[in-house]
Amino acid sequence: MSQYGTLGVAVIGTGRMGADHVRRISEVTSGARVAAVVDIDPERAKRIAEGVDGCTPYTDPAAAMAADDVDAVLIASPGPAHEAALLAAFAHDLPVLCEKPLTPDAASALRVLEAEQRLGHRRVQVGFMRRYDPEYARLKALLDGGTLGRPLMLHNRHRNAATPPGFTNAMIINDSVVHEMDVTRWLLGQEITSVTVVRPRRSAGAPDGLDDPQLVLFETDGGAVVDVEVNLNCGFGYQVQAEAVCERGTARIGDGHAMVTSAAGRWGGTIAQGFVERFENAYDRQVQAWVDATRRGEVTGPSAWDGYAAAAVCEAGVRAQTEGRRIAVDLAGRPPLYR
Ligand code: NAD
Repeated sequence: MSQYGTLGVAVIGTGRMGADHVRRISEVTSGARVAAVVDIDPERAKRIAEGVDGCTPYTDPAAAMAADDVDAVLIASPGPAHEAALLAAFAHDLPVLCEKPLTPDAASALRVLEAEQRLGHRRVQVGFMRRYDPEYARLKALLDGGTLGRPLMLHNRHRNAATPPGFTNAMIINDSVVHEMDVTRWLLGQEITSVTVVRPRRSAGAPDGLDDPQLVLFETDGGAVVDVEVNLNCGFGYQVQAEAVCERGTARIGDGHAMVTSAAGRWGGTIAQGFVERFENAYDRQVQAWVDATRRGEVTGPSAWDGYAAAAVCEAGVRAQTEGRRIAVDLAGRPPLYR
């Protein structure tokens, strides 16, 4: 760290998310600066670095991590590149904020868990940023407070205006429903034990080859039942909603009622058009929390265990989709480092 305690961050992968994190760290986050950017596309790395004072472009993550002014790593490369970047960060014992997924499958996520355990301390925060969304945080505090009694059910809606080209059924689970897997585990403090996928008729808005929408059901080890409407070509915008049904009441978030207008005989508001807009605040708070914890020498937030558990639930989810039946989640024992 610099003499003023500013955290020098290497951002690995400067695509959509990485470039946004570079902007965030440079313009929004306090206590950190972007010391290095890494991309396998050298032109892209150079272009992003040119916009940031004192930032060096690299094409090799390990070279950036070896630099004197790099104190921490933010991984925003595609999921299949995460394991190598995480292991390189461990070799330098650097703190990491790793965009979800930790890795694309449970076996590689377990290898990361084992490597972090060999370090003997946690180094990884996984980018499940919904935990930093103010509405989700309020729901979590309410459930933890216990005034509504035990949660029995959680109804979720995850709607997108349209899927990008090439989006597959497996990506519905691995890229979209993975967020509900994490918030379910976090809100309820329970592990997901099985996944079932039910499909209504395909929407006329779904692209060829994609079964959209789908209804995904989780059962948990605490006896809760959770449903997720995942509806990714709804046409009207990006909506993420959750309603907890508890023994003595319910609580619902995500209605997007920040501003309601009344005019010309109608009332209404606007619907966010994408995740960057809907969760802007959550991304900002996530990165600030990571920087603050790192400067205190701590690791907080979603752990590598949470990343592994999500990967294990995703595997069950993809099998539930393809086999058309309820699939039990195969979860390893939780190591002491993550208890
Ligand atoms: P992207 O394709 O826009 O960008 C990826 C970038 O990484 C590209 O510039 C590419 O050249 C570079 N790259 C590829 N392999 C690399 C390697 N081995 N080393 C360094 N750079 C490499 O992807 P994206 O949409 O920005 O997604 C990046 C990550 O963020 C993924 O893990 C994705 O799942 C995650 N993501 C998270 C959220 C969220 O809401 N938390 C949303 C979108 C994406």
